[in-house]
Amino acid sequence: GRLKTDVLIVGAGAAGLMCAITAARRGRRVLVVDHANRVGKKILMSGGGRCNFTNTGTSPANYLSANPHFAKSALARYTPADFVALVEKHGIAYHEKELGQLFCDDSSKQIVRLLLDECAAAGVRVETSCGVERVRRTDEGFAVLTARGEVHAESLVVATGGLSIPSMGASGFGYELARQFGHAVLPVRAALVPLTLSGKHQEHYADLAGVALPLAGTRVGKRAFRAGLLFTHRGLSGPSILQISSYWQPGDDLRLDLAPDVGLGDWLVQQRGARPAAELKNVLADALPKRLAQRLCELVFESRPMRQYRDADLREIGRQLHDWPITASGTEGYRTAEVTLGGVDTDGLSSSTMQSRLVPGLYFIGEVVDVTGWLGGYNFQWAWASGHAAGEVA
Ligand code: FAD
Repeated sequence: GRLKTDVLIVGAGAAGLMCAITAARRGRRVLVVDHANRVGKKILMSGGGRCNFTNTGTSPANYLSANPHFAKSALARYTPADFVALVEKHGIAYHEKELGQLFCDDSSKQIVRLLLDECAAAGVRVETSCGVERVRRTDEGFAVLTARGEVHAESLVVATGGLSIPSMGASGFGYELARQFGHAVLPVRAALVPLTLSGKHQEHYADLAGVALPLAGTRVGKRAFRAGLLFTHRGLSGPSILQISSYWQPGDDLRLDLAPDVGLGDWLVQQRGARPAAELKNVLADALPKRLAQRLCELVFESRPMRQYRDADLREIGRQLHDWPITASGTEGYRTAEVTLGGVDTDGLSSSTMQSRLVPGLYFIGEVVDVTGWLGGYNFQWAWASGHAAGEVA
């Protein structure tokens, strides 16, 4: 068949559906196609099934991009409060977990339902199990060959996301399409992803798998985060590791602060006064998980009775534990990464509309664009904001 529409959106994820709702409310005929058998799979799996749908503290500083200014305009015009209003309109109960992160009380299914209900109310047509094979430019816009036949559209919005979690429908289609139309695509890599250790670095920590620190610092250069950390069979995970993974590249020096809330040097000196006969490893086990304290003593510090250490020794041990070097070998890759760094170069896009500067009528939104948020609801907020920006004009 041959179908005409005003706006064709490829990708029924967070960004694509928000764009569809916004454009259809303006009276545009909107068709959304997705090759997956259901919409919003990443929304469903997000936030441990509860979808961390936004962060109330969202600011451009929470994003990585070759152009740190690019996200400003869209983020300013569709704010976390705007999405919260939508959540409340649909009667979805939510709570703040920490640091402005908003989650559904019940299920991320409610966010997908919200989006589909808004799509239905605005008259959006959504086709699943409908891949896109070819796109060409026509006099009126674009001719797009889909699994259901050719679709002619004035505006074409690419909302195909990143490469993370291939089993959920991720594809490089958006990047290929960008290149086809002359757009630069910046190198992509897995981000918000566990780090792996190898060789002796893995052997040192492998049997700590399962040990968790409720609060640990991670640092690469001047960039630092504080959140939970988890030792895994293959390396390191937990929010503080996922956050720093977006800034880490192989070869970079990674440092951990194993007890960011305690001044360990002073504390150790104090402990020596209180229990001079206790062994260092047992004292450290009060500040760190026991298995970790023991392992660090085996690796670096001998564990002697506290009275045998001088002030300077204890302060040095404390200093090292606050700035612990870890040599990561790589990341767990797209299989487990929450997002993809890099993507369609923002230089080729208008920051207020997401429209291509090269091809009128072509738009890129969401994760396919070189804008990547921190962990904590920022990625969905970018999907909503960029989708909304394009939906206002497409
Ligand atoms: P997506 O939501 O990935 O949607 C892209 C859509 O395009 C998909 O439906 C896909 O099937 C479709 N598609 C791809 N290629 C084609 C093609 N060739 N033809 C047709 N359709 C195609 N972010 C947060 O802010 N908070 C969280 O709690 C959170 N949790 C996450 C948990 C996990 C496990 C993962 C993997 C990610 C999480 N994220 C979270 C990140 C967030 O899910 C993404 O940043 C966001 O979904 C990106 O939205 P998008 O619309 O750009 O892409």
